[in-house]
Amino acid sequence: MTTGTLFIVSAPSGAGKTSLLKALVETEEHVRVSVSHTTRPKRPGETDGVDYHFVDKEVFSNMVESGAFLEHAEVFGNFYGTSEAGIRDQLEQGDDVILEIDWQGAQQVRARFPATVSIFILPPTPEALRQRLGSRGQDSDEVIQRRLGEAREEMSHYPEYDYIVVNDLFDQALGELRAIITAQRLRQPSQAARLQERLRSLLG
Ligand code: 5GP
Repeated sequence: MTTGTLFIVSAPSGAGKTSLLKALVETEEHVRVSVSHTTRPKRPGETDGVDYHFVDKEVFSNMVESGAFLEHAEVFGNFYGTSEAGIRDQLEQGDDVILEIDWQGAQQVRARFPATVSIFILPPTPEALRQRLGSRGQDSDEVIQRRLGEAREEMSHYPEYDYIVVNDLFDQALGELRAIITAQRLRQPSQAARLQERLRSLLG
């Protein structure tokens, strides 16, 4: 039996991480993105249980108390956490699981599971980032400046990650994410577990 790999993907908001991961799971078998819990209000177009499990602060702190979270963090005034239930099952079934979390959560997960593979997604240029952060249209300059500051804070943690993908051309970035996952699956211990029968017959 081979178990899946736990991946972490972090990025500043405006780097296009969510769209990339959505395209990845739609086209790649045996990869899932974990659905986090959050106390932040639901944005238009988001669905409870799909984008996040939206919970209030009391439910969230009860989950923290009972040790339900693999990691949790406060990110720009809201709480986010990855519940442990489910992730272990998915990994044990051999599926790869992606945690779409910030640098604080990434540090906690690495400390507990050193074999985690982490990927940082960067926007191509400051102009592209600025444009993507302001693309909701009605935001004031002050709000955009604050978001840029938050993005820089997140990006300053890139040295802690195993891989960096620049999201300039969407299809190229998607291909690079796939390449990382494929390379991980081809590592000797994973392959040896998967190819037991074949290796036995080849080695006689
Ligand atoms: P947003 O509210 O825009 O969806 O996400 C804001 C930030 O919270 C992003 O950097 C995202 O990666 C991070 N985030 C989302 N879910 C989790 C989680 O479960 N744990 C941690 N530590 N960060 C999360």
